[in-house]
Amino acid sequence: MAQRHVIIGAGPAGMHAIEAIRRFQPEGSEIHLVCDEPAYARMVLPYYICGEVGEDHVLTADDATLKRFGVTPHFGKRVVRVNPNERTVQLDDGSTLQFDNLLIATGSSPARPPIDGLDLPGVTTLWTLEDARRLIELTGPGKRVVFLGAGFIGFIVLNALYKRRCDLTVIELQEHVLPRMLDREAAGLVERWLADRGVRVRCGVQAERIEQIDNALRVRLSDGSALDADCVVVATGVRPNVEFLRDSGIEINEGVLVNERLQTNFPFIYAAGDCAEGIDLLGGRGIHAIQPTAIEHGRVAGANMAGQEVVYEGSLSMNVLDVCGLHAASFGRWAGDEDSVRLSNPARPVYRKYVFDGDRMVGAIILGPTSDVAHLADIGMVKGIIQTKVQLGPWKAYLKESHPLDLRRPYAALGVAKILLEKTVLPVPSEDAGYRPGNVQPDSERDKGPHHRVLAETFRKVFGK
Ligand SMILES: Cc1cc2nc3c(=O)[nH]c(=O)nc-3n(C[C@H](O)[C@H](O)[C@H](O)COP(=O)(O)OP(=O)(O)OC[C@H]3O[C@@H](n4cnc5c(N)ncnc54)[C@H](O)[C@@H]3O)c2cc1C
Repeated sequence: MAQRHVIIGAGPAGMHAIEAIRRFQPEGSEIHLVCDEPAYARMVLPYYICGEVGEDHVLTADDATLKRFGVTPHFGKRVVRVNPNERTVQLDDGSTLQFDNLLIATGSSPARPPIDGLDLPGVTTLWTLEDARRLIELTGPGKRVVFLGAGFIGFIVLNALYKRRCDLTVIELQEHVLPRMLDREAAGLVERWLADRGVRVRCGVQAERIEQIDNALRVRLSDGSALDADCVVVATGVRPNVEFLRDSGIEINEGVLVNERLQTNFPFIYAAGDCAEGIDLLGGRGIHAIQPTAIEHGRVAGANMAGQEVVYEGSLSMNVLDVCGLHAASFGRWAGDEDSVRLSNPARPVYRKYVFDGDRMVGAIILGPTSDVAHLADIGMVKGIIQTKVQLGPWKAYLKESHPLDLRRPYAALGVAKILLEKTVLPVPSEDAGYRPGNVQPDSERDKGPHHRVLAETFRKVFGK
């Protein structure tokens, strides 16, 4: 009988696992994909909300793609139970699927703060395609939107609603915005940037309840004040979707524990993406609930399910945001203070922090206007320096003591680009999945904004085309 792979979740982790399975096992196996939603990429939702792409661009596969990959879809269904000993999953319609290999790629869900009023119309999370459609209905120029939570996802949505010209207020329980991504000083620059653009930020307070007052919502805060709103976006963190596994025998800490091949304590059961607690590139373990980790996890798990022996080096924690025209990025162990250097120019604003462990850079924060192309290049270079774990030698003192803004020289001298080019997650080059919503092709005529114009001009000068 053909080997049967069952995959739970059609997000980036699940879809990239399917691609990897078919790369190494073009035929001779069955793939069953169970998901309560269609196949799409959540990270595209903000672009959909602000009208930069249509809804079809959010989707990552259609019937033809799934057929090409030989996938039997079970959409609109949930797995409610996994039985590793019998190698079965039970679906919410009562049916059962037998598997040889199972991939748990169930992602995560928004946490719900314990306050009254979360179910009122006008109160929403932004996590699903359904949420995005609701948010488009609820918001528009001048609409008052209150955000509960000033974290990474909240700020991605904030940026999209800023583009929709909403009237924005952010509430954050911690003492500064983006507490899991930036230090106090960098966050202060972000807060000032937002204030200059009319976005109100209130830190150190929390919402106690939300009430319906006529056609509007009223958010009652812990300091006794209240805010009126047309829409409230709840963005108070996420938690991995692992509850349905609790009595299965599969080892779970915060997420499903996986080894360097993305296997759980049952070697024929894998986990990938937001629900998996895997190896951190810089040491230890963790959940990195970001798209690049989901993709890499999915590819490694898929290759191993297809009989390869692929070992994953680990994922790098990273967050890169556009906050209403200000780039904020942090990588790795950015919070460390023992061996670090900081540089700040609040006037522009620009902020840098690099964290070192011996001869290596292990963390960084970079902040600067999105209009600054050099700054954007630095975000990529700092990521490369950390990701390759390159030994800095004398370049550490160069960056730390004399030239913290000149990443280019160490990046070039240490051959970081070459190391990155030679690094692949799988032992084969990547391939285009071949899916385009509506067969859309790149539009060379569309104006892609000022950065792109500068890059295109530089490219023309250097390469003559
Ligand atoms: C608005 C938004 C913007 C984002 N922007 C970025 C960004 O800019 N950069 C970045 O790196 N990351 C971003 N992310 C995070 C990124 O989208 C996630 O890390 C990524 O989607 C994780 O992929 P996944 O495949 O692990 O899980 P998911 O994409 O969550 O997919 C899992 C799927 O499994 C389904 N499922 C769950 N349980 C079951 C079950 N029991 N049975 C059947 N199906 C089930 C879920 O409903 C879901 O459809 C963003 C997220 C959001 C919400």
